[in-house]
Amino acid sequence: AKVWTLAKHFDGFPKDSDFKLKVEELPEPKDGEVLLESVFLSVDPYVRPFSRAHMKEGDPIIGSQVAKVIQSKNPVFPVGSHVLGNFGWRTHAVSDGSGLTPIMPGWPQDVSLSLALGSIGMPGLTALYGIEEVLGLQKGETLLVNAAAGAVGSVVGQIAKIKGCKVVGSVGSDAKVAYLKELGFDEAFNYKTVSSLDEALRKASPEGYDCFFENVGGHFSTVALQHMKSFGRIAVCGSISVYNDTTPQTGPYPHLTMIVKQLKMEGFVQSRWEHIHPESLRRLMAWLKEGKLQYREHITKGFENMPAAFMGMLQGENLGKAIVAA
Ligand code: NDP
Repeated sequence: AKVWTLAKHFDGFPKDSDFKLKVEELPEPKDGEVLLESVFLSVDPYVRPFSRAHMKEGDPIIGSQVAKVIQSKNPVFPVGSHVLGNFGWRTHAVSDGSGLTPIMPGWPQDVSLSLALGSIGMPGLTALYGIEEVLGLQKGETLLVNAAAGAVGSVVGQIAKIKGCKVVGSVGSDAKVAYLKELGFDEAFNYKTVSSLDEALRKASPEGYDCFFENVGGHFSTVALQHMKSFGRIAVCGSISVYNDTTPQTGPYPHLTMIVKQLKMEGFVQSRWEHIHPESLRRLMAWLKEGKLQYREHITKGFENMPAAFMGMLQGENLGKAIVAA
């Protein structure tokens, strides 16, 4: 097996020398075990903020993948079947089946299995739970989402449209603005080129925002809070603009805005609703089949390019979910 490992803990933005490709001999699968080969691997933002807590130097980089069973001594996972596994950035793995999830039963032939890492997977579920469980978004409300052309954000905006809301998206390129319009977003702007974020947010929704699906944090957050309506709700999903900071940001804290506008802010992790994942995946798939949930993927070919794909995603190269095809 080829394995991407953490050569050195990230310090600031990740660099090539933080990653090391190793070759590992795998044992023959024993009774109850399977040999897996990666097909699609996910590169996700959480790897950056979780790196210190979840990896030591020399460990495989954390991550999930869609893998194919190529040898099996476990009847639950026959040869040729596909599974979702959380065994990091590696081409092959031997598993006793614990921690493996079969792909959703009835996965349509014409839908790429890579979507099990994107719109019909963890990022899609994150979007759904943020909207329904955290924000309780209601028909007719106005929702703001940032990193809006990404894996989570693009699903957030589309679900909000399905629910009959006005949706405003912030993204980092004009091509992404055009994509959001294709997806049916009511307003979209490029936060890198607007002369004032404050003005862009006001122009997109002069009456303010009922709900804010927060993926970015930092400066964006501080400005966006000023544009919330009274009793507005904020789902704090991510904070990607600060993941590579070497010193933690200190303020300005938005307490006064929170008080004056009587806002409600809640951080969440999608796994809180693990018990309803199967049903939620079926709902996402149904929207996809009805044409209500569109998607793009940013596919990088070749396992050897995983660090480049990861760093590219952190820099906003991806439109839709960033995936590596092994
Ligand atoms: P994306 O597919 O959205 O990719 C990351 C995007 O973030 C980039 O494409 C880039 O888009 C944007 N970005 C990067 N740096 C900055 C910056 N400094 N300021 C603003 N935008 C930036 O990733 P995901 O959809 O997988 O994740 C989106 C967010 O959701 C992340 O914060 C992630 O940590 C979080 N998350 C949280 C989960 C949870 O359970 N709470 C689960 C999954 C994800 P652009 O060109 O627009 O800048």
